[in-house]
Amino acid sequence: MFIGPPGVGKGTYAKIISQKYNIPHISTGDIFREEIAKGTELGLRVKPYVERGILVPDEIVVEVVKRILQSPLCNRGFILDGYPRTVRQAEELDRIVNVDVVFLFEAPLEVVVERVSGRLLCPKCGAIYNVSWKPPRRPGICDICGTQLIRRRDDEPKLVRERYQLYRQTLTPVIDYYRRKGILVEVNAAREAHLVISDIEHILAKIFKLNPG
Ligand code: AMP
Repeated sequence: MFIGPPGVGKGTYAKIISQKYNIPHISTGDIFREEIAKGTELGLRVKPYVERGILVPDEIVVEVVKRILQSPLCNRGFILDGYPRTVRQAEELDRIVNVDVVFLFEAPLEVVVERVSGRLLCPKCGAIYNVSWKPPRRPGICDICGTQLIRRRDDEPKLVRERYQLYRQTLTPVIDYYRRKGILVEVNAAREAHLVISDIEHILAKIFKLNPG
């Protein structure tokens, strides 16, 4: 499980680890953005929350996550990114799966605001770019699927600061929950991505005797 403030790089790390170990990357934020883009019933229900950067009610999130984790897609394991965001969500998760390890990525607010200000996202395949250090080959176009890239509405600096504060208030009890269980691993994510990834790989190798491939 990958948790941490918005813009800390969870999604980027999760995508890389997911490909290396061939296990699915389940991001509740990505799922909601996709559903909103497709205009589905779920999309319409979550849109007002996601666009304002506030939490979607637990009942909705829990239902979505339960459905996915119980599908054959997750038989060999999974990476959950951006879930849980409340203790209730953590407790509901414990009812259906066994969580092996929780990575908590930390970075100061100013680092997060800077990272997020240049972030571009592919609304189709979920690829993440940054205009400063990971620009797409053709400006504004996804390298992988050729779709026009977008900026997340909730990446506007004022909203990022608000989401960060919300994260601090709501995630502290969740962090304590996993610390008490003894499965929390804290990772300094204010460093370059390859260093963060290498830490994650070392920890996974220790816990699961697992190597990429
Ligand atoms: P993220 O991409 O993880 O930053 O999520 C984007 C937005 O989706 C959040 O600001 C929330 O509105 C919503 N969201 C994603 N995951 C959750 C969750 N576990 N609980 C409640 N809301 C969520």
